[in-house]
Amino acid sequence: MTCIALVSKTIPMAFLLPAFREQFPDSEIRVADASGEMLGNLADIDVAVCWYPPPGLLSKMPRLGLVQSLAAGVDHLACDPALPLVPVCRIVDPEMGSGMAAYVAWAVIHRQRAMGRYLESAQATRWQEQPIVSPARHRVGIAGLGALGLRCASALQALGYPVRGWSRSAKGELPPGIEAFHGDHGRDAFLAGCDTLVNLLPLTDDTRGVLNARLFARLPPGAHLVNVGRGQHLVEEDLLAALNSGQLGAATLDAFMTEPLPSSHPFWEHPLILVTPHIATRTRPEIIARQTFENLRRIRQGESLATVDRARGY
Ligand code: NAP
Repeated sequence: MTCIALVSKTIPMAFLLPAFREQFPDSEIRVADASGEMLGNLADIDVAVCWYPPPGLLSKMPRLGLVQSLAAGVDHLACDPALPLVPVCRIVDPEMGSGMAAYVAWAVIHRQRAMGRYLESAQATRWQEQPIVSPARHRVGIAGLGALGLRCASALQALGYPVRGWSRSAKGELPPGIEAFHGDHGRDAFLAGCDTLVNLLPLTDDTRGVLNARLFARLPPGAHLVNVGRGQHLVEEDLLAALNSGQLGAATLDAFMTEPLPSSHPFWEHPLILVTPHIATRTRPEIIARQTFENLRRIRQGESLATVDRARGY
């Protein structure tokens, strides 16, 4: 019988149980306890569905044939030095893409149309127009033109924003109108044309701390930063300095070094920072269960499988 372990040391995984029981009616489904430890014999486990598993735990599962991330990112797995050499898959989900595109479009519009000022006016029952600037005059750059970045780029372009993207490798086929940059040599030219910069890079050794003072200095003065990647992409003190000097004009942040963001953290009170609690997008449990099922089926039938590239880290 197939045995599936739902493992995390940071969140309760029981919310996945109904969907996994439905998708795998003949399998044993086990859930880790609150500290991420698994009860029962680890040698029975075929599949581990994970979000921050305790480091070293997966290496004690000799029968393991698939590590499935319950999210698009795999940084929560790549940080385990004992991650077993079995296929690692992540979620690629059009619904998650729509959710991210909606969040990013909201963040761009909120800034570009000065919606924060209308909220203040409404509180004061004050009828007051803000300058109306066409989307065509606000350039948006997406760092990370992957599954989510591309979806955001298309959505913003449909709204009339000039969109550019930056990736590690050159992009052959992009939807028309999206200007593409790639590699370290393309980075500064990309940044120079970003009135809003959206970070949708995966967290890897190459991208940790990438949102720093050097990068902010390459953006047009007063640019807006949207971080929907990971908190570890951002050098927090560099962001505060760039906002306080006027090099950046605003930041919309969804991911943080420490989550939940502590109530004493300066980001909460900063007038130019808008904090959301890592909610930009999610995947439904049914989709996680379905993709796990399909990945396992492909492995067992010897079919090709989209796996994470361990050398690149994403
Ligand atoms: P993906 O499909 O793997 O795309 C990653 C993109 O980043 C690719 O275009 C890749 O370039 C580019 N990239 C990677 N390393 C780079 C580097 N060193 N320099 C320049 N470009 C680089 O990932 P995705 O599915 O779009 O997800 C992106 C990230 O979003 C996830 O890793 C996760 O951290 C974050 N996320 C956040 C939330 C949230 O709620 N806040 C939800 C879901 C995901 P190539 O195309 O050349 O490979």
